[in-house]
Amino acid sequence: MSKRHPIIAGNWKMNKNVREAQDYAGELLARVGEVTDVDVVVCAPFTALNALKDDLEESVIHIGAQDLFWGSAGAFTGEISAEMLVDIACTYVIVGHSERREILHETDEEIAKKVKAALKAGLTPILCVGENLAHREEGRALAMVRGQVEKDLMDLPPAELKRVVIAYEPLWAIGTGKTASSQDAQDMCSAIRSTLAGIAGAVADEVNILYGGSVKADNIAELMTQPDIDGALVGGASLDAEGFAQLIENAR
Ligand code: PEP
Repeated sequence: MSKRHPIIAGNWKMNKNVREAQDYAGELLARVGEVTDVDVVVCAPFTALNALKDDLEESVIHIGAQDLFWGSAGAFTGEISAEMLVDIACTYVIVGHSERREILHETDEEIAKKVKAALKAGLTPILCVGENLAHREEGRALAMVRGQVEKDLMDLPPAELKRVVIAYEPLWAIGTGKTASSQDAQDMCSAIRSTLAGIAGAVADEVNILYGGSVKADNIAELMTQPDIDGALVGGASLDAEGFAQLIENAR
């Protein structure tokens, strides 16, 4: 029997100041503060995390960051460590989002180090993988995504690997309004699970795999019916607390 628990994670990206974060936290708490059959995660910019700690630390809503550095402390100007995130009540962190891979040229080698650092500090990494439009059109989507999963989770023992959440996010569906069909999303999430089984055996069944890419309140329910989709990573539709609460409701 599957031990997976659905997760709906919002990714604010580079949006919201402290005041806006506080207002959002109050509103989300009022609407989904009693929800326990779905793990709700809010991944905020570093500057808003402390405000979320004040409002959400004691609640069922989890606080997540959008990135971290692999070192614990020291001469890494501008970086934030996993330990610092734990200190401000984060329990999740996004790693390897496509915007960081594309715009900031993050490599799989760096992403693998970030995944390990997150796990070591007790954080749940949400590892993002996904192909771009050219990969898909050329029939290379599967190879691309498999390669990312294998490289980014390299050398992790099964007991660690099962603590990773994977978000399949086809680049062509992020922020474009184009969602992968639920069957396409299911096919890739199933392929990711097979890849995990090849790396780590039976624990693959315990790994939460999310879909991300223009997920909204009106398409989440169908995505959630797919056997290998355990939730969603949501960008644009997580920015409004009321709309995000509705999306969470429709995922249940
Ligand atoms: C994302 O940022 O991870 C994402 C999936 O964005 P959107 O929902 O806006 O496509």
